[in-house]
Amino acid sequence: MNTAPLRLRLDAAALAANWTLLADLSGPAACGAAVKANGYGLGARGVVERLAAAGCRDFFVATWGEARALADLGVSLSVLHGLRDADLADRPSTARPVLGTVEQVRRWREGGGGACDVMVDTGMNRLGISPRQVADGLLDGLAIETLMSHLVAADEDVPLNARQRNDFAALAGRSPARRMSLANSSGIALGSDYRFDLTRPGIALYGGRQRDLHAGIRQVVTPEAQILQRRRVPAGETIGYNATYTAPRDMEVAILNLGYADGYLRCFSNKGRALAGERVLPVVGRVSMDLTAICVDAAPDLAEGDWVAMAYDLPETAGLSGLSQYELLTGLGARFDRVWG
Ligand SMILES: *Cc1c(COP(=O)(O)O)cnc(C)c1O
Repeated sequence: MNTAPLRLRLDAAALAANWTLLADLSGPAACGAAVKANGYGLGARGVVERLAAAGCRDFFVATWGEARALADLGVSLSVLHGLRDADLADRPSTARPVLGTVEQVRRWREGGGGACDVMVDTGMNRLGISPRQVADGLLDGLAIETLMSHLVAADEDVPLNARQRNDFAALAGRSPARRMSLANSSGIALGSDYRFDLTRPGIALYGGRQRDLHAGIRQVVTPEAQILQRRRVPAGETIGYNATYTAPRDMEVAILNLGYADGYLRCFSNKGRALAGERVLPVVGRVSMDLTAICVDAAPDLAEGDWVAMAYDLPETAGLSGLSQYELLTGLGARFDRVWG
């Protein structure tokens, strides 16, 4: 098989262990998984298959297109972006809309109804109906599987967390929902009164760490690139576009098949790092669209055709690059082979 010169190494054992840890932290609540945006860039199919095998039963996608792509797996899917007229026609039987406006509730009823979820807005001011509309009976008679809301700043210690939690808890028994769900990855760590019946972690499944309770979360994703050329750069010459790096001495450089078109963005210029075993190989010069140079003075053994891993611990790499842990994953492009091991 002709493989790409670029791959994501995906640690199946770490993914399953992360879900199990989050399920344990969720206590008696069920633990689902957010797999929108192609499973946060890992590949939604591969993620869902493995999490279903680990015991996960509730999956969350953003759009109906994402739901259709996973429909044959037979798992329960909730479509967070609700229901447009156009969505009524081609709905997989295993997917439910997360209704979020009065218009969507009406559309669902008129389309024949059936099992659905509902989003209530408790402060994000993004998607969802208001707690008042729930209390006023908007949802009466609907077959609601899960009533949910979403935390604004669960990764910070702010009074808004408790306010959202209390406003949501006040809806218990006010709708026909079978279950209630509030917590994302960080919400799970806020305490047992944030867990309700179902939790919805995303980023922590994939190696994101935002709270002390996430200390046991393992890295899942490692980008790896092949060396296209190894060259000697004489002292005083520059490397890459706009000559942002000048070799301070004669240097050994490897050119990697990786660039900003793959999601390895320009903020890694002169900052990112590759790893070869214990050795750290710094990015030198600007990241270009399809290529990145690293200094390989410390790795005389590395040659054309060899592979190196990019340092990609999520909290650390977010700190280094200024990108969020979410952006670091969801930006990883289509040119990576996604290889589970
Ligand atoms: C993305 C998302 C999640 C998961 O959030 P993380 O911060 O990645 O854990 C949960 N619920 C909703 C509604 C989401 O949109």
